[in-house]
Amino acid sequence: MTLTGKRIVVTGAASGMGRDIAVAAAARGAAHIALLDIDATALQRTEQDLAAHGAAVSTHTVDLRDAAAIFSTIDDVVAAAGGLDALVNNAGVLDHAFTASDRVGVDTLDEAAWDAVMDINLKAPWLLTKAASPHLLASDRGPSIVNTASVAGMHGSGMTAYSVSKAGVLQLTRVSAIGLAPRVRVNAISPGSIRTPMSQAHLDAGEDRMERALSMYGTHLIPRLGDVSEISAAVCFLLSDDASFITGVNLPVDGGTTAWRGRQTVVPLD
Ligand code: NAD
Repeated sequence: MTLTGKRIVVTGAASGMGRDIAVAAAARGAAHIALLDIDATALQRTEQDLAAHGAAVSTHTVDLRDAAAIFSTIDDVVAAAGGLDALVNNAGVLDHAFTASDRVGVDTLDEAAWDAVMDINLKAPWLLTKAASPHLLASDRGPSIVNTASVAGMHGSGMTAYSVSKAGVLQLTRVSAIGLAPRVRVNAISPGSIRTPMSQAHLDAGEDRMERALSMYGTHLIPRLGDVSEISAAVCFLLSDDASFITGVNLPVDGGTTAWRGRQTVVPLD
């Protein structure tokens, strides 16, 4: 699996999966990685991680709720990289980021929190797709898009806006695959619970660690948190020419969560 020569935008590149996707893409031979995030300081750490891999890197501090900034950033990326071959719509937020954790239900969520989650998780991937499309359609380097959805968009969850936004990401993936076919492939991944700063903090915050672990990965047939490297491997495969006949799919990378309706009674703790 190689990404040789590809010029790739990764959103949410300052943390968690986005950071690892950027490094993994560079390690697989990408020519240019454009790192997009709202967190300028953390973006610098990802830039340092990439230094050893030889890819050209550009960093772009951007709030994905700002439509004008999205379009100007894609222009900046294309100017810096000389074109664009891939877009990874990875950035995402939970309802909790904008409201108290006991106010994420359909009957309690604030309208402002709904709007913020929808803007970042669903509207921004569409705007980025729209901004990137002319450049992807002009690419002769196997252009494609990967959108990060979630198992919470496949079966629902207690987080109202998050679940609805991720279901929307799956439909955005299908309409984008249709709209950009046959030149540009568009696919989604749906992670289960993955070890990132966000999920680690949630795990550590539980008073009853077993109960918290069961709630996070008790539904995995492989009873542990996923590793970010297991996400980036799937994303890099879908971006690569090895996936040249795959478009419009949702690939769960979820430890088997969506294969059954069960829950473990005990899981390993670490
Ligand atoms: P994370 O919180 O570690 O990283 C998300 C990044 O998005 C951060 O760097 C943050 O600064 C950036 N971001 C947030 N709001 C932004 C904005 N307005 N503009 C620009 N950047 C912004 O998250 P993660 O766990 O790595 O998750 C990555 C993706 O995977 C998200 O879409 C998330 O919904 C999805 N996901 C995560 C899990 C999990 O278990 N961690 C499971 C399923 C799906």
